[in-house]
Amino acid sequence: RKGNVIITGASSGLGLATAKAIGESGEWHVIMACRDFLKAEKAAKSAGIPKENYTVMHLDLASLESVRQFVDTFRRSGRPLDALVCNAAVYLPTAKEPTFTADGFELSVGTNHLGHFLLARLLLDDLKQSDYPQKRLIIVGSITGNTNTLAGNVPPKANLGDLRGLVGGLNSLNCSPMIDGGEFDGAKAYKDSKVCNMLTMQEFHRRFHEETGITFASLYPGCIAETGLFRNHIPLFRALFPPFQKYITKGYVSEEESGKRLAQVVRDPSLSKSGVYWSWNSTSSSFENQLSKEASDAEKARKLWEVSEKLVGLA
Ligand code: NDP
Repeated sequence: RKGNVIITGASSGLGLATAKAIGESGEWHVIMACRDFLKAEKAAKSAGIPKENYTVMHLDLASLESVRQFVDTFRRSGRPLDALVCNAAVYLPTAKEPTFTADGFELSVGTNHLGHFLLARLLLDDLKQSDYPQKRLIIVGSITGNTNTLAGNVPPKANLGDLRGLVGGLNSLNCSPMIDGGEFDGAKAYKDSKVCNMLTMQEFHRRFHEETGITFASLYPGCIAETGLFRNHIPLFRALFPPFQKYITKGYVSEEESGKRLAQVVRDPSLSKSGVYWSWNSTSSSFENQLSKEASDAEKARKLWEVSEKLVGLA
């Protein structure tokens, strides 16, 4: 049978390019889990994904209720689940004030981490039941949360501290909209959310890999400097960022190439090792990359897991 993969945020950028790379083959059915139904349909059509190879399903990660409804809708479709890709993200680098999810969490961490945390936790059962030869749960990471890299050292740096802001519910009512309890900073909130994504992948691996055989992985797909992620940045940044990445850092990748990379993590038999953070070198060969100290801190991962469970209503 065909494999079935859910990709969140498949309406643009990396998610769409991955949906295209996987949906073109005919060996997989792609469930595009998107907040804007029409945008996703249009995107799938203009990318040329054959109609029989994809379904758009509504998912707004900024609402825990929507995450639960998505899981119900997916289950009612009767499809098995063989791979889940947590890809969607928001990045609000110029925001002066925090904005919040339906449940009152700061929007970047609420969407990128907490929405995906609930989704992945609920769908773990579905992955367990799949009889597909290889089952995978992938959470897209980033270099920017990794302070062991040049890009990760551009201030403001990611830092989850002792998680006091997260414990307080990630809003200004109790403590702070930032995980570490500090002042709101949109760029830092995004980086913090990516550290959460990488910690969550490793905690899934520690808790469930042996028992379930599921492959848990994260990746840095390269700098895809032209995606919608930078839509909220100032115009000058948006003009200069792609050439800077192309000619100075040489970390630039096209959307198409980044989609091929993520598609490898979904289905390539040679990338089946669990607990790995994948990256690609200049000749586009994959390798197991090292995470920063904080992004590989097992104790922090455990605490993040427990606090997140409480916030999304699982504990
Ligand atoms: P895009 O902005 O192009 O794509 C983000 C996607 O997330 C969009 O489809 C967007 O939907 C969706 N999304 C945002 N909020 C929600 C929500 N509340 N519910 C459901 N979907 C939502 O950015 P990229 O393709 O660049 O980013 C994809 C991933 O790649 C992210 O995890 C990002 O951190 C990661 N990444 C990107 C890098 C880059 O250089 N671009 C580098 C490293 C990692 P909509 O279309 O409706 O806006």
